[in-house]
Amino acid sequence: MTVQYRDGIDIELSDGTRIVCDADEPDGDVTAVSHAHGDHLPADGTTAVCSELTAAIGTSRMDGTLRSASEPRVELRPAGHVAGSQAILVEDPDGTRYCYTGDVSVRSRHYLDGFEPPDADVLVVEATYGKPEYRFPPHAEVVAEILDWLRETEQPVLLLGYAFGRAQKLQLLAERAGRARVLTTEGVLRINEPIEQALGVTFPAEAFDDTDLRPGDALVLPMTSGRIDWVDRLASESGAVTAGFSGWAIDDSFRFRGDFDVTFPLSDHCDFTELLELVETVDPERVYTQHGFAEELATALTTRGFDATALKQNQTSLRQF
Ligand SMILES: [Zn+2]
Repeated sequence: MTVQYRDGIDIELSDGTRIVCDADEPDGDVTAVSHAHGDHLPADGTTAVCSELTAAIGTSRMDGTLRSASEPRVELRPAGHVAGSQAILVEDPDGTRYCYTGDVSVRSRHYLDGFEPPDADVLVVEATYGKPEYRFPPHAEVVAEILDWLRETEQPVLLLGYAFGRAQKLQLLAERAGRARVLTTEGVLRINEPIEQALGVTFPAEAFDDTDLRPGDALVLPMTSGRIDWVDRLASESGAVTAGFSGWAIDDSFRFRGDFDVTFPLSDHCDFTELLELVETVDPERVYTQHGFAEELATALTTRGFDATALKQNQTSLRQF
């Protein structure tokens, strides 16, 4: 039995079966996909253990078709990260239980239920914010601040966040704050659609057609690096205020780098405290950390008495020779 970080997370069971999670080019006996963010999706169409919603959103964002299938040894559990996201639970014939969280959040918010940690012997947990300085204020507090700001800002606002995940929540918040119009890009509208169908939620945004922005408008834009100039031009032409939404907003540098007028630490991941609590609840024999501050989180867990290792991509283990 081994867990390795090759092209995705590779779990080899005692009978030799390889379960490959979130790989670009999956080559295992069983393929699993935790959620439909680009860095977790296979490059081409394939059949994988994943939610129907991940298959639908994934297919709209990749070449080829992602089909969802089931597999008796693999169980899915809502990971609370984005619509359709699932943690992957694997049962080895020898009884060992594995849990790979993918990206994960324990906070229930909007249409997402927070992740409920399962019993597992081996846990692979993400570590995006696996460093003590990344502690987010309570979610309700962040939401209240955003709503206050949206209500008291008369100018048009440009709300920037990831197209899949953050952009949907920003539409709902802009609507709740009573902004006159909520607008967004065709790309975000395309992602809204399968989420609306699957979860029965309705997003308020209509297509932004490059006409003039008016006071009271909220325009939700995907946060992509190449558009900074375009966003700046739009902001100065329309007198709009720009806001960035990310867990990285804990760092002042997020505001400067993104050239935002304001930022809010709205995140779809666990913060440092939540990661520790998640591991403590699962209470596994062995923990592997990956992504982001994997080393720092493994160190913090080791200090707390866990057998924790940071997974490095393509690191070979003695077992392979
Ligand atoms: Zn993600």
